Amino acid sequence: MNTLLAATATVSFAAIVYLGVYVLFLCQSPKKNYFLLCLLAASVWILGHLLELLSNSADEAYTAIRLFYLGCSFAPVLSFLFVADYCDVKLSIPWVKVPLILASLACVVLQWGTKYHGLVYTRYWFDDQSIHYLGFQPGAVYYMLRSLALGLLAASFVIILRRMRGADGKHRTQLWLLLFCAAAPIIGEGFNYAQMLLRPDTVYIYIVPHLMALSSLLFYIAVMRYDMLDIVPKATMTAMSYAKEAYILLDEQGRYLYSNRAASVMFADIISLSRGAPIAYLADWPPSLHNLAAQEGQDVPFTLYQGDAARYYQASVNVASFNQGQVDAYVVLMHDVTESVSMFQQLEEAAYTDALTGLYNRRHFLEMARMYLDRATRSQLSSYVMMLDLDHFKLINDQYLHPGGDAVLRAVAGHMREAVRTYDVVARYGGEEFLLLLTEIEQEPVMRLAERLRVHIADTPILFDGYELRVTCSIGVALYKPDEGLDEAICQADKAMYRAKAEGRNRVCLYAST
Ligand code: GH3
Ligand code: MG
Ligand code: MG
Repeated sequence: MNTLLAATATVSFAAIVYLGVYVLFLCQSPKKNYFLLCLLAASVWILGHLLELLSNSADEAYTAIRLFYLGCSFAPVLSFLFVADYCDVKLSIPWVKVPLILASLACVVLQWGTKYHGLVYTRYWFDDQSIHYLGFQPGAVYYMLRSLALGLLAASFVIILRRMRGADGKHRTQLWLLLFCAAAPIIGEGFNYAQMLLRPDTVYIYIVPHLMALSSLLFYIAVMRYDMLDIVPKATMTAMSYAKEAYILLDEQGRYLYSNRAASVMFADIISLSRGAPIAYLADWPPSLHNLAAQEGQDVPFTLYQGDAARYYQASVNVASFNQGQVDAYVVLMHDVTESVSMFQQLEEAAYTDALTGLYNRRHFLEMARMYLDRATRSQLSSYVMMLDLDHFKLINDQYLHPGGDAVLRAVAGHMREAVRTYDVVARYGGEEFLLLLTEIEQEPVMRLAERLRVHIADTPILFDGYELRVTCSIGVALYKPDEGLDEAICQADKAMYRAKAEGRNRVCLYAST
């Protein structure tokens, strides 16, 4: 019988040590720390039991039991911490975790010193007819120590049961396995007491350390078969770190927890932000995202500048809640929408500018002119419309072909833009006809500006394909009269321009009604 017990304990011990080392190599995440320590404690527990079975005297058995207690005091605490962590139950470090570890330590200290104070065993002796080779008389705290371990295992059991309510599929299978692992030592203890009560005189097997080994085996199956510890979070993190969208995880108070690569492209300083620092410490962090609770579930547009270049982004704020109704974290996803925004801007620009010269087109000129004229009329200041047509432009096209003509049109557009004040409106009205609106101005400066522009165009050669092209223009000027309207003023400027043509071109004419 002794040989059988020793062999079973040896096999359990070897298996558990092997599993611990194997899992240590497989996994790297923090959740495993409790798991591995728990395996280690269980192996010490079984080793202690094995040595007890191999002992030949009370002193030898007592030394073995010290090892046994080292393992069995820590294993339930560590398995409880692992279960709580796995089921996302937040435990306070100063009020729960540290006291539990200290309690385990106290169990060990009390048991190791029982020879002197008699609190755990009032006395002990060598007894090769019993479950424990070390026969003992329980002391004052013996049952307290036992119930701490049982209480923790029961607490793990309850946590898993609660978690199972919301779980489904694969996760549920993992929880079932975990539940069995937590239940096994409790069942073992119950079985042990039942044996002691029902058949106190017979040799029986102390089953708990063996059940611990079985639990570890199930843990192992859960780890390997159902990716309990690693693959899901690891794969998710990998996907997040390579995602094109920026992914930023913040706690419920907007403090930084994690961000992926795309986020550090967007906010270069984010990598130097320490965990727990308010995200608003980032100088570039959009002000619209300071109050995350208010933006939850919304798409928030924002702009970032790299030098002078603006880039446009869209952020969405989502709440991660692990406990009902409570915000545990904010997940902020951001993507670059610069391409679509600039496409929209280009479309908008194309709708009101002329592609060749970059001046306003006729439609937009009319819109802008009405706005400016309204203001000028209210201030009772006069405004003028100017029509400019290039002379013998057909000849330029004939001689230098259309590209030559286009170069001239672009150059003239440039001269006009330079000649006017910033609030004057310049447009390409038709083929080689340009319109100008000058508001809140007297006739004399208008005529001066027109003349200066004519001279400048005539005197400035335009370089094209190695040639110096020269062009002149005829300009018609008309006073805008509010009661007659803008169309009439344009028509009058056109008439004046034709008069300039008729009078020999390369000149400025003011519309006169007679
Ligand atoms: P005039 O002095 O009487 O104005 O003579 P003109 O040759 O300028 O006569 P007209 O106004 O009839 O000719 C305009 C020409 O401008 C006709 C057309 O081929 C040319 N044109 C119109 N739009 C463009 C353009 O976008 N590019 C080029 N290269 N030529 C254009
Ligand atoms: Mg012309
Ligand atoms: Mg013309």
